[in-house]
Amino acid sequence: MRRIVVKVGSAVLTQDGEIALKRMRALVAFIAELKHDNEVLLVSSGAVSAGYTALKLDRTVLSNKQALAAIGQPILLSKYAKKFLPFNIITAQVLVTAANLNKKDDISRINQTINTLLDNNILPIINENDATSTDELEVGDNDQLSAYIAKDTGADLLIILSDIDAYYDADPRAHIHAEVLKIVNTISEEELNCCPTPNNIFATGGIVTKLKAASYLLDENIDTFLASGFDLRDAKSFALHATHIGGTLFTKAK
Ligand code: GLU
Repeated sequence: MRRIVVKVGSAVLTQDGEIALKRMRALVAFIAELKHDNEVLLVSSGAVSAGYTALKLDRTVLSNKQALAAIGQPILLSKYAKKFLPFNIITAQVLVTAANLNKKDDISRINQTINTLLDNNILPIINENDATSTDELEVGDNDQLSAYIAKDTGADLLIILSDIDAYYDADPRAHIHAEVLKIVNTISEEELNCCPTPNNIFATGGIVTKLKAASYLLDENIDTFLASGFDLRDAKSFALHATHIGGTLFTKAK
């Protein structure tokens, strides 16, 4: 069985100040199908934006952002639990901090918990513990968090579902002729140092954090697949039917 980490971003999970339930349902159905033949871990953003659906605090103030995460994380998880129920999938919440990911003992404990959950067919839903993370000690974005989780749990593949449907040879919002890079074997320092360009106020990283995640995993020889979280057709063809139509696969040259 392959072990696959699926990461979904806030821009996919929320829309106009509400949780995007239709997209969440599509994601849940996809994961349920993926779970037939694979071990699946879900890294889900959306705590802060789910918190904002309940209380309109200014998220640019750190303490407000942390409060929003504390409000939103249970809202998000209860929605997931409800949506996975018809598929007979029990969900579990695993919150981690950057400090955990820097400590060998903590990593091995996280692994033991995740392995126990997976052995019992439970879906671990992972997020950073935003309510207690500090500026100095936070991963900050779930693209990189999902890459660390993929490496630390010995995953075979990371799938990033985003409002960005692939990696292009130029910014597709500025260049109409920008083309999808279907397979990427290396990522240069220059690409990694490009400015972050999130498309949504609750999104953290834009393309750069995705490239950082993919680059980190390239060094570990773990593949990353970047595809749309709005339309799951490319992710489904790739992950369920081994057919690469759209989206970008970051993989070491074989
Ligand atoms: N952990 C944040 C949240 O759940 C998201 C971080 C990110 O956007 O990557 O809201």
